[in-house]
Amino acid sequence: MFRIRFHGRGGQGMKTASRILGSAFFRAGYEVQDAPRYGAERRGAPIFAYVRADRKVINERGIIDHPDLVVVADDTLVGMPAAGVTQGMDAHTLMLINSHESAEVWSQRLNTEASILILAAREDVADRASLPYIGSRCAAAAAALCGVISREILIAAINDELAHLSTDVIERNCQIAQTAFDQMSDQSGLVKQGGSLSAADYIPPEWIDMPFEKAEVSNLAIHAGATSVKVRTGLWRTMRPVIDYDRCSGCTWICSTYCPDGCIDVRADGYPEIDYDHCKGCLVCVAQCPPHAIESIPEQTAREQESGEQT
Ligand code: SF4
Ligand code: SF4
Repeated sequence: MFRIRFHGRGGQGMKTASRILGSAFFRAGYEVQDAPRYGAERRGAPIFAYVRADRKVINERGIIDHPDLVVVADDTLVGMPAAGVTQGMDAHTLMLINSHESAEVWSQRLNTEASILILAAREDVADRASLPYIGSRCAAAAAALCGVISREILIAAINDELAHLSTDVIERNCQIAQTAFDQMSDQSGLVKQGGSLSAADYIPPEWIDMPFEKAEVSNLAIHAGATSVKVRTGLWRTMRPVIDYDRCSGCTWICSTYCPDGCIDVRADGYPEIDYDHCKGCLVCVAQCPPHAIESIPEQTAREQESGEQT
């Protein structure tokens, strides 16, 4: 059975990638499962999608723990624990990363036994947050690496899955997919199918016996206030709002009211202050600030600036 996981950010088309690859396998005569898995329902949040394909009936369900192929559309996710990119990878796994860096660099960074290949990131993409057509590129590269899907079947699958889009968009996806397919064709068949999993090998978790309690105890209702302060939603943020106090006019009833997470405080001097532990980076405040005193910068850039200031 082929077990393939696609990792990307919400909005980058990983669900579409899994659907295209799933349709292609199906057209090639395979039994198929494909499904996306979302964490935070938010553009930019890490998501993954997976595909199982086999000549036999597939009895496995749920997420893929031990992938044969891991495809990473956005290399900024690789080091992010919440994205779970490297979960279950071992010497059997092939990892394909859309990146400007080399496979050697990634092998050293990850210190992994998995084999690593690079899908060379396109130079003409100015805004890497959007990564246009990356879903079709990833699906095509994965199809080539599996070695059982022809170019014609891949193109037919793209036409199936993108049929709701305009002819121009479908055509552009097909062109980009064909290029990715050809780039990987030297490595055709590199993905090795994993063996079947036996239920006899199942190791049950160490269950904890919970006694039955009265409803008001077992069906928790949290009465204590401010418990959400413990959930650091700032860890999700990909873009950081930054206040330019030279422009800020102190109309804090605007930004602090519009912030959906209530994480813009008012300082003693009457000016706003963002709580970065809880700001999730929705950028509503950036849109609402009348004198445009809040700009958004990539979180990575902000962290680099901070570390530069500390050294
Ligand atoms: S809305 Fe803009 S100008 Fe007004 S207090 Fe907030 S940041 Fe400053
Ligand atoms: S980006 Fe969103 S969560 Fe963060 S301070 Fe602005 S409005 Fe609040």
